[in-house]
Amino acid sequence: MSNYKLETKCIQSGWQPSTGEARVLPIYQSTTFKYDTSDQMGALFDLEESGYFYTRLANPTNDCVANKICDLEGGYAAMLTSSGQAANFYAVFNIAEAGDHIIISSQLYGGTFNLLTTTIAKMGIETTVIDPDIDIDELRKCFKPNTKCVLAESISNPSLHVLDFDKFVTAAHEAGVPVIVDNTFPTPINCRPFEYGVDIVTHSTTKYMDGHATAVGGCIVDSGNFDWMKYPDKFPGLCKPDESYHGVVFAEKFGKAGYITKATTTLMRDLGSIQSPQNAFYLNIGLETLALRMERHCSNALAVAKWLKANENVAWVNYPGLEDDENHEKAMKYMPKGTCGVITFGIKGGREASVKFMDSLKLIAIVTHVADARSCVLHPASHTHRQMTDEQLIEAGVKPDLIRFSVGIENVEDIIDDLKQAFNQ
Ligand SMILES: *Cc1c(COP(=O)(O)O)cnc(C)c1O
Repeated sequence: MSNYKLETKCIQSGWQPSTGEARVLPIYQSTTFKYDTSDQMGALFDLEESGYFYTRLANPTNDCVANKICDLEGGYAAMLTSSGQAANFYAVFNIAEAGDHIIISSQLYGGTFNLLTTTIAKMGIETTVIDPDIDIDELRKCFKPNTKCVLAESISNPSLHVLDFDKFVTAAHEAGVPVIVDNTFPTPINCRPFEYGVDIVTHSTTKYMDGHATAVGGCIVDSGNFDWMKYPDKFPGLCKPDESYHGVVFAEKFGKAGYITKATTTLMRDLGSIQSPQNAFYLNIGLETLALRMERHCSNALAVAKWLKANENVAWVNYPGLEDDENHEKAMKYMPKGTCGVITFGIKGGREASVKFMDSLKLIAIVTHVADARSCVLHPASHTHRQMTDEQLIEAGVKPDLIRFSVGIENVEDIIDDLKQAFNQ
């Protein structure tokens, strides 16, 4: 599908029916797959042949959807996971283990921040948290001989920081380290990190990709561009024989597919965070309209951001699509078609006024979600990020009065009318 435009890939990539087969991606709601001979099955276990045998390792429905996302990102290989959390965990744990070090941006989704500071520390992995606006020379100094990856978000949730891809990719590659970018917010429709040298992309497909708040899911896409075999001692899991698979060397045997093959055949085998084929089916339907929806999310969000900015009750507005936003220049460089539908703002009168305002909304709901078709709001300091101290909140780019507003694809006049009536109260 590589010659088609993104809008076409959203619809046509992935499932390719042959004559007489279902036009729409079938749900292979089966844990197991049948073989005629014991030898055929044995070859699959030996990784000598590719094929399906157990859905924890691979399922045809999931593979078709992973391939569509891979195609949208311009990647080489991809896999689905049960959630965005699992995607980020697997992406890191596939190349880092006890005794290793990773570098992460401070401006991350709260769940990812917890995972990659607290939980991963219990597995013996040390984390350096950096301000993504760090000077490149300071960034260079953060790399250690045992640094295995750098992870950041292309647009951070909820602080809407836009990543300086060039800076991160340059510093990491100089140190022989791959860059992992969580591209959940802009989606490949608006930003394709591989074009800027990023090595691995992750997604919470729960957000815009599914788009209708029906299925939690995640995805990892590998560009296939990082040369693991250049650093065999740094990435032994990929470049040295794996005893749990009769001494296979993943990066050698599977080349550009080595990273995803290892994640599937070892991490998924052992930890089991698979996406259900039913959820993958929902995700695929969401992906079909992704390009259309992103366009509307972005145009609605820009109109709402401008309206909020002009409102006397509003203390501040962040939206990288606004011309005077501090992230606008980077957004124009890396995602010129648009950013996402999420805006953050604060209301004069602080915390109390914010809560009263949110409780007065009628069309726009208070939910712990972002990035679906329905407009919704959330107050991170009292919801998603409530486990963080005020200091950590500010470090993560989350002001205590910040309201995260996920602008949906309703008629924008109705959205603005709801804001108006809430302010009047
Ligand atoms: C929601 C989110 C996650 C976590 O994804 P789940 O699907 O909820 O597990 C990770 N990264 C970002 C940027 C997110 O917005």
